[in-house]
Amino acid sequence: MAEPMHCYRHPKRETRVSCATCGRPICTECMVATDVGIKCPDDARLPRGARAGVMKSDQLVRSILAGVGVAVAGIPIAYVLFLLPFTWLISAAAGYGAGTLINRAGGRNGGPLAIVISVLATAVPFLVLLAPDLLAGALDPRPLIAMVFAVIAAGVANRQV
Ligand SMILES: [Zn+2]
Ligand SMILES: [Zn+2]
Repeated sequence: MAEPMHCYRHPKRETRVSCATCGRPICTECMVATDVGIKCPDDARLPRGARAGVMKSDQLVRSILAGVGVAVAGIPIAYVLFLLPFTWLISAAAGYGAGTLINRAGGRNGGPLAIVISVLATAVPFLVLLAPDLLAGALDPRPLIAMVFAVIAAGVANRQV
């Protein structure tokens, strides 16, 4: 027979059950049955979706690489966009595409990090092209509006579902 353990929340209670996540012993009163085993209240409290949005380091690296690729490839794309009518509309579509690409590169986890990478990657080409006007203080608001649409769309593409 294994040595009885004591509940980490009730040090006087003996138990043979431990949490499937953290391994801490828990008494029958504290334990929570989940679909992935018995857990302590701390770990059981985590929402189901808590794991979504947490990227593994290799997914994060791929997301950043995809972000850099989008930023670089986006410069000529944004340049062409500025010459077209409905720049804001096409920018939003391009931003959504960019965000989706980065989301897939990151294992479709989404979450705050993927949103940050997507937003930055989408904003970079616009900022590069708009920088001369910005510095000259003679900025046309239309490309800025297009950038806002693109950035929002990139973020939306990475929302957690
Ligand atoms: Zn636990
Ligand atoms: Zn307990």
